[in-house]
Formats: sequence, C-alpha cells, structure tokens
Amino acid sequence: MLGSHRNKGCSELAHGLHPVGVCHSNGCLIPPLTDETAMYNVTLIPGDGTGPEIAEATRKCIDATGVKIDWDVQECGIEVIQREGKVPERVLDSIRRNKVAIKGPITTPIGKGFRSVNVFLRQALNLYACVRPCKSYVGVRSHYKNIDLVIVRENTEDLYAGVEFEAGLPKTAELIQFINSIATGKKISTSLETTGVSIKPISIEGTRNIVNHAFEYAVKHGRKSISSVCKANIMKFTDGLWYKESRAVAAAYGARFEDKSLAEGVVADPQLAGKVPNTAGKIEYTERLIDNMCMQLVQKPELYDVIVLPNLYGDILSDLCAGLVGGLGVAPGANIGIDGAIFEATHGSAPKYKGQNKVNPTALILSGKLMLEHLGETAAAEKLERAVAAVIAEGKDVTYDMKPDRNDPTAVGTSQMADAICRKMRQG
Ligand code: NAD
Repeated sequence: MLGSHRNKGCSELAHGLHPVGVCHSNGCLIPPLTDETAMYNVTLIPGDGTGPEIAEATRKCIDATGVKIDWDVQECGIEVIQREGKVPERVLDSIRRNKVAIKGPITTPIGKGFRSVNVFLRQALNLYACVRPCKSYVGVRSHYKNIDLVIVRENTEDLYAGVEFEAGLPKTAELIQFINSIATGKKISTSLETTGVSIKPISIEGTRNIVNHAFEYAVKHGRKSISSVCKANIMKFTDGLWYKESRAVAAAYGARFEDKSLAEGVVADPQLAGKVPNTAGKIEYTERLIDNMCMQLVQKPELYDVIVLPNLYGDILSDLCAGLVGGLGVAPGANIGIDGAIFEATHGSAPKYKGQNKVNPTALILSGKLMLEHLGETAAAEKLERAVAAVIAEGKDVTYDMKPDRNDPTAVGTSQMADAICRKMRQG
C-alpha cells in the first residue's frame, strides 16, 4: 500500500506578487516530505525512440536513492501524438496535478506540420525557465577540464512563440505591406512574394521573470556571477529591452555591475527590490553580446558562471556548453514554471538506436538529480551525482559513447550502466 502523497497541489501557488512561485524552504513548489511513509507523486513520460530505455534506467537510479516516489507513467511519444492528433489532456492534467515530471525525449518529425511536443509542453504549462547545468566529470572525453557553467534560458517567448508567416501566401504579402506602412525606420525590402516572416516577441515581464530565476538560482547555489546575453546592438526593441530589464533585476539583488556605467540610471525592479535577498555585490552582473559570448566560451569558459539568455540564443548556447563538457550524452536539463517543472535531457530521441539498449542514460539520470534537488532531497541528489561521477570516472560500466573507441566491445548497455550506478549508491 502506498503511503500518503504530499504533492497533491500547493495552496500557496496562487500567492505571489511575482510569478516566480517559490513557496517552500527548499525553493520548490512542493513541501519537503517529513513523515517516513510519505511519497512524492511524479509524472514519468518515457517519450519515444530511445526515451523509454533511458527513462527506465533513470527511474531505477532515482528509486535506488531511497527517495519514495509514486510514478505516474504517461505515454506521450510520437505514436500517441499521431494517434490522438495532439498531446493528450491526461498528460497535461497529470503534470498539473503532480507539479513535477521527468521526461524522455520525444521525436518531432521535420516538415510534417506538427510542432514540437517539447515546445508545446513548455508553453502549455508556462515552464518559462530552462536550466541546464554543464559540468565536467572526470572520465568524460572533452577538450576542456573543470567546466562548471549553468545556462538559464527563457523558454516561452522569442522566435519560439511560433508566430510565423509563410513566403508566397497573400496574407504574408499583406503583413509585409502593413509593416512597411507603419515602420518608422527600416522597411522590409525583399519581395512580397518570396519573403517569409517569423515574429520575435520579448516582454518586460518575461525577461524579469527569467532573470529573477537566474538570480534566485545563483543565490541558492552560491554562484558568483550572472552574464546576461543577447544581441541588443542589432535588435533594440527586443534584445534592448532584455538588457534594460536584466539590469533592473540585477539592481534589485544588489549585484555588482562589472561595467559600472551600465548601472547608471537603472531603477531596481520595484516588484523585487526589498523582497529578494540583497547580495551586496557578492554576485557580479555582466553583459555580453551573443556572438562574442560564443567565442569567449570556447576560449576562456572559466570566466563565466550562470548565463541567462532569451530562448533562441539559450538553445544554441546550451548545445555549445554541452559540447564543452563532452557532448549531449551528459547534459541534463530542467524546465521550471509556476505550475510545475519538467526534467529532461538536452539530447533528442536518437531514434536510430531505438530498442538497442545502447545509448547513454547519464543526461536523464543527471536530470533526475536536478529533480531531487528541486524536491528538496539534496542528500539523495548528491548521492546520485556521486555515483554517476564514480561510474564515469572508472570508465568500465559505461556506454559506447564514453569509451575512447566507440566500437569498444566492453561498452555496456543503457540498463547495465544504470545498474552500475545503483551498485555504487548501495556501496555508499
Ligand atoms: P539527438 O540528440 O536525438 O541525436 C543526435 C545524435 O547524438 C544521435 O544520433 C547519437 O549519435 C547522439 N546521441 C544523442 N543522445 C545520445 C545518448 N543518450 N547517448 C549516446 N548518444 C546520443 O538529436 P536529433 O537526431 O537531432 O533529434 C532526434 C529527434 O529528437 C528529433 O525528432 C528532435 O526533434 C527530437 N528532440 C527532442 C528533444 C526533447 O525531447 N527534448 C530534444 C532534442 C531533439
């Protein structure tokens, strides 16, 4: 029989002057478990392709930490979407009810008319913050050592809002003509018939929420600096707004501006000032243009710590940073909002390896570590990470992609690597 279930909703969710709904001392929407028979309800979405294999490996490892979880398994892979024509309401209901989900990757067919389920879930549940720690582990092959970066990516706005107009359609030509009629500066000079248009909305509140999330993260995890990144020299009304609001949030936290001139005339975010911790200059605030940031990260990643970006730049830089630490196989992620959180790997469904018990489960297992942290189960999260790190460092019970030679016959399968991680945890 199951014990009592403790995350059946949080009455405090409706509170809040600011949509960053931190309700409990663990910084999570869900109260930490106190009695021994209690369990967390967590939605588990196996996904498709290699998703179900890595999801099962992850569930095994999380259970082996000793944290009690009642898994609410919800199928939402491409077969389900194709059969039902959309993400089933029961999946959204389950995440809304449980407030925490862990998910295997889901395939997005290219050019077949339906949008990414992953993007849909983030937008439907308003999971506005994507947090992707990129950390070096001994034993993972990489050109870099000792990387410890965190990407905080805005997840719901920007070019991913999905407002697009196809080239050649009459309404697209009409839109271009309308834009040109009201544009006070430059106009669209390409042909009405051959130009496609994608809209890039960036809002004040969206920017403040995500930058606030980055600062909350930095405070909670004792990080030293936050870099706000965009391309404000070119897009003044979207990326320019991004910098302006980033500075207002940084001022509310009492951040130390690397470039003092950026602090001139900045009014601290009135919704945050006095209500969030004043870091009294302990956290540094820096700004970088995205192109420069790409080069800086390749040349001197050690200079950076937490990096906060709008959606598109965040997507690209997450993969760059995953590359710094040895690739997608070890890059975990969290999508967090006021109504819940979904934890998932940065990589996709790697469909060519489906059913082969071959791919690396590390990224989703480390996403499970982030989930345990989110639940306030810090000791279990650390135990899981230590076990993952130990198995990788030994280099014996690891998948093909972690061996120096990808054809190494001693490489183990997805489930065997998970078993090795569970054994490490039992050994303490
Ligand atoms: P992918 O990440 O699935 O795979 C690219 C390559 O990376 C694979 O062929 C494989 O060699 C390697 N790889 C990926 N994950 C690995 C792992 N765990 N272990 C070892 N090697 C691994 O990227 P893709 O091929 O561009 O995308 C496949 C599908 O996944 C697409 O439909 C895409 O839209 C989708 N996708 C889903 C998510 C998500 O669910 N969040 C994220 C990215 C892509």
